[in-house]
Amino acid sequence: MRKNIVAGNWKMNFGLDETQDLISGLKKINKTSDAEVIIAPPFTNLFSAFESLKNTNIGLAAQNMHESDNGAFTGEISAEMLKSIGVNTVILGHSERRAIFGEDENLLTEKVNTALKHGMRIIYCFGEELKDRNYGEHQEVVGKQIANTLYHLDADAWKNIVLAYEPVWAIGTGETASPEQAQEMHAFIRKEVKHEYGEDVSESLSILYGGSVKPGNAEEIFSKKDVDGGLIGGASLKAEDFMAIVNAFKK
Ligand code: PEP
Repeated sequence: MRKNIVAGNWKMNFGLDETQDLISGLKKINKTSDAEVIIAPPFTNLFSAFESLKNTNIGLAAQNMHESDNGAFTGEISAEMLKSIGVNTVILGHSERRAIFGEDENLLTEKVNTALKHGMRIIYCFGEELKDRNYGEHQEVVGKQIANTLYHLDADAWKNIVLAYEPVWAIGTGETASPEQAQEMHAFIRKEVKHEYGEDVSESLSILYGGSVKPGNAEEIFSKKDVDGGLIGGASLKAEDFMAIVNAFKK
């Protein structure tokens, strides 16, 4: 069956010392759930995090990568660079990358293809804006976001795809989708993927929820049938909060 995953997106937070402090804090807290745990520190701290996480059950992800294999792209980081320091998972399509850095579906398709070509696993983020939900178009918007960037893949490629449904209106705002809203959307996504690829793919696909998940609301959200974990922003920056969210996962 599909994997439960809790991933922490640290965004542009923390230098080396704070990274090491947070990792030490995470290592001290007992993991009592069956969820896979992943943290995504900034690029500059990935290698030291990799060294510190050896022999632990905490994995690493990058927050982004460039779509090209190498070359004259000043300031960018490639899939092979990430793999060379032991990072095999990458977050793509985060709403901040889309909104602030203009990442559109063509670019994201290229990034997806490059990551998969290099054998990386992708945590693929998408989600509707508040206006889409107010117009009752949230499912249509989300359905297109997935179809336009992922449905060219063959079924086998989906072994390396984790989806993260993150309604834009709930990211970093303190607003959370209700557990029912999350379940409704996750069930819709699974149904769409089933329609396109069949039940083997849709039932093995982990679909994470992201958007103001906190220790106080994680258990209820994670208890929903089609919610297979969370992508956590703000609350992943405190070891106790993040591990409380990991351990809220009871299935
Ligand atoms: C995120 O940025 O992916 C996120 C879910 O942030 P927050 O948990 O802070 O809403």
